[in-house]
Amino acid sequence: MIRLNDILDRTLSYNPGANLDVIKRAYVFSAKVHQGQMRLSGEPYLVHPIEVGGILTDLRMDVDSIATGLLHDVVEDAWTELDQIESTFGKEISTLVDGVTKISQISYGTSEKRQAENLRKMIVAMTKDVRVILIKLADRLHNMRTLEYHEEDKRVKISQETRDIYAPLAHRLGINWLRSELDDLSFMHLNSERYYRLAKRIAKSRKEREKYIKEVEGIIKEILTKQGITADVSGRPKNLYSINQKMEKYDLDFDQVYDIIAFRVIVGSIRDCYQALGTIHSHWKPIPQRIKDYIAMPKANGYQSLHTTVIGPYGERVEIQIRTEQMHSVAEGGIAAHWKYKEGKVIQEKSDWEFAWLRQLLEWQQEVPDATEFLNTVKLDLFPNEVFVFTPRGDVKEFPKGATPVDFAYSIHTDIGNRCAGAKITGRIVSLKAELKNGDIVEIITSPTQKPNKDWLRFVKTSKAKAKIRQWTAREQRERKSALGRELLEKDFRKHGLNFSRLTRSGEMEKVARECNYKEAEALIAAVGSGILPSSQIIKRLVREEGLKPGEVPVLPKAIRKTASQSPTAISIMGVDDIMVRFGKCCNPLPGDSVMGFITRGRGVTVHKADCPWALESDQERRLEVQWDPRAQSLRPAKIKVVCIDRPGMLAQITQSIASVDVNIKKAKAQTTMDKKAINIFELDVRDIAHLRNVIKSVEKVGGVISVERLSG
Ligand code: MN
Repeated sequence: MIRLNDILDRTLSYNPGANLDVIKRAYVFSAKVHQGQMRLSGEPYLVHPIEVGGILTDLRMDVDSIATGLLHDVVEDAWTELDQIESTFGKEISTLVDGVTKISQISYGTSEKRQAENLRKMIVAMTKDVRVILIKLADRLHNMRTLEYHEEDKRVKISQETRDIYAPLAHRLGINWLRSELDDLSFMHLNSERYYRLAKRIAKSRKEREKYIKEVEGIIKEILTKQGITADVSGRPKNLYSINQKMEKYDLDFDQVYDIIAFRVIVGSIRDCYQALGTIHSHWKPIPQRIKDYIAMPKANGYQSLHTTVIGPYGERVEIQIRTEQMHSVAEGGIAAHWKYKEGKVIQEKSDWEFAWLRQLLEWQQEVPDATEFLNTVKLDLFPNEVFVFTPRGDVKEFPKGATPVDFAYSIHTDIGNRCAGAKITGRIVSLKAELKNGDIVEIITSPTQKPNKDWLRFVKTSKAKAKIRQWTAREQRERKSALGRELLEKDFRKHGLNFSRLTRSGEMEKVARECNYKEAEALIAAVGSGILPSSQIIKRLVREEGLKPGEVPVLPKAIRKTASQSPTAISIMGVDDIMVRFGKCCNPLPGDSVMGFITRGRGVTVHKADCPWALESDQERRLEVQWDPRAQSLRPAKIKVVCIDRPGMLAQITQSIASVDVNIKKAKAQTTMDKKAINIFELDVRDIAHLRNVIKSVEKVGGVISVERLSG
């Protein structure tokens, strides 16, 4: 068992100016608070924080971290107030203790892999100071080392959490020894039968193995020395967890797993690394795909080394790693290997603790040529653009930054999203637009009468929510069009003696739908409702298909002729010809006027001038884009009002000027006023608005004419 003095000595060994007083005070405080508490092993509880402090010295941590290690359980397990830590040890240590306590409180929830990944991200997102994670890792390592005192189910739960979350975190931080010990311990508890079988086999072959290691070490040393390279060569079995993984991955038997032993060659310089690699390759044949240059391309966690696998003296595979002393210390110590102490302080600004993680990654980025690979790795580690929130049950959910309760609702279930009427964040009612923040507990309030709103599209962030809202509004629109189409058709059918529901049931409508290139009758009906297909087209086809019943003979052709003659349309509607078009009597639009179409119940489409008051007031749902058809050569009625002096011959002069621009007068009406003026109304046939303007200009030129204007009605 480690004692306080060991911790103090070790601290001084790498941090000679350390302020040991803080550590001593933390020890006394912790001893007092935990007094009388026992661990399951029967030891005093204090053993645990002291061991954690010891592991933190293995990680070469600073004084504040070690003190936090000693204090890390006083809030959670001994009900000490955080205020008391702050007043006794200062803000820095109380913030660290708070961070470690918070991580311990995150619930692991289900054991799904994805969940684990989220939790890992959550821990990182919540932890600005990387020391909190390292202290938590030290805590977890000691708990794993003493896990056998727990009940089976608790052992399994803690081991899974270690395997899925804490070992990968240690890996991200590049602390190899910590990672492999965590991996082995969780392997031991989760699959103990296999673990012990492997351990036994390795132990059994120990003598042989040691002989083999000596032999290979000797050969490597010898060939390198001949080239003038001084090297420290050592071989050792890999950890059981990775041997087991290898066996499972490649479906190997234990005897086939030669590379349970890895040889490590440590040399003086980078140049020696490559030279050693060349020398070894010229002695033993390398396996080409197994050569990895992590010196030129370090892993994102900073790991550098040359890896190769060669065919060894007995035709077996031998795995060799070549690196410098400096690379080796990074490989083992990870993030901590970069820290330097001077006069008891880490030579870094305080804020550097907060951003050490980020800075490290950025430095490594400059060394990693493959930017995308780097970014992918970093994305897992740092997520400024993501937020992590909880469901009321404690599950973690991940969203893009700026996501709202509506995104959250859709992430749970489409129905929850569609009926999402409100939300509570950590118990408080918030707006549906509210931005989710890290750590929020989000609860959705649904209402059976709630429907998705198009406006939601303006603030939701996830593509799932967007897609679902669009889907819903599209469906709603389709339903509205269908209802309108049905109504139009029922009326028009009735006029022609056809029975809408009978034709629908009998499948006749389906047939017409396919003829008109619609998938089904429902789509055909919707097309009528949206105005792209006139009901007359359907009626024509049905009449032809069905043949006419005796009573209907005289009515139908007449009606169709009427429809056809009434529409020398001059109007095109979304590229569909032969639609029944009427013009608003109120505004009498002319080609060239800007116009607007309206679906009229049972009467096709009515076209009004865009500024016609009737058009502006009418139901926007029925509105339809229409254009004048430039190919049409039909004439349209127009009215003008001409005011002139009341004198003989005036009317003749005006009619002549109208005729001179090639316009037919259909009707004229004149009346005189008390003040000797005449007001004449002419009904004309014109081609378009330009034609009408010509008329007006021509009439204005006539002497005695006071004003000329177009009448709308
Ligand atoms: Mn603990």
